[in-house]
Amino acid sequence: MKFNFEVVKTRRILAGKCPECGKRVQRSRVFKQAVNPFNRNKDGSIKSYPEVRAAVNAEANAWVPDFTHDACAEQALYRSQVAKGSIK
Ligand SMILES: [Zn+2]
Repeated sequence: MKFNFEVVKTRRILAGKCPECGKRVQRSRVFKQAVNPFNRNKDGSIKSYPEVRAAVNAEANAWVPDFTHDACAEQALYRSQVAKGSIK
């Protein structure tokens, strides 16, 4: 028995603003799922190509990226710790 392990991919690029510094940030992510015997519907049937595509799109549409820069997130954490008195 031979299966075609096709991978359905979609890429999302979202732009937003870093809540800390207010600068523009772009985030991109690739969503993928394979069409194979292990990728099944809730009823146990193997997902067809259009079903996998719909699932990947739904996942991509539900994606809410964190626009905070890594460096800004660290600074925010540092400030909150200073405010709490954990760091002097
Ligand atoms: Zn920032």
